[in-house]
Amino acid sequence: MMTFDELKAKYPRLLKGVWFEHRQGWTDLLDAFFAVVDHGLPPEGSYSVRQVKEKMGTLRLYDDIEGVSEDVEKMIDDARELAEARSYYACEWCGHPGVLRNREGYYTTTCDEHALYEGRMAVPLDPPAELHIKSKGAWKRYDADVDAFVTSEPPEWSR
Ligand SMILES: [Zn+2]
Repeated sequence: MMTFDELKAKYPRLLKGVWFEHRQGWTDLLDAFFAVVDHGLPPEGSYSVRQVKEKMGTLRLYDDIEGVSEDVEKMIDDARELAEARSYYACEWCGHPGVLRNREGYYTTTCDEHALYEGRMAVPLDPPAELHIKSKGAWKRYDADVDAFVTSEPPEWSR
């Protein structure tokens, strides 16, 4: 697992002055995302992170991109969706495989080892959480087994 400082040192032009509002376990999936941005961003383009945080137990990243082609923007959008989806299955504390849990009303994604915090146990959601996204009118679901989005039926809550 990378530290925040290592991540910032690897992408100085993307992460100057960025404050991470989550624990360090998600740095590796952010590394994969910023690698795509760094590769796709032309010298005349600009990129800035507005906010990167934990919300409802998973990762949310809000950013601004300018001066890139539509193809690159789509590539970055896809990579961001994937990073956020992967956070449903990566412990926010250590980055090891985890699941979304409920700790006395607060959502958190942890491995078994980090489920217990300050004497309170986080219990895996039952049924397990599934991430559905509607994109260009069609629904898709993140499938952790293949680490990709697959087309899906509209989720129950959307009907
Ligand atoms: Zn952990």
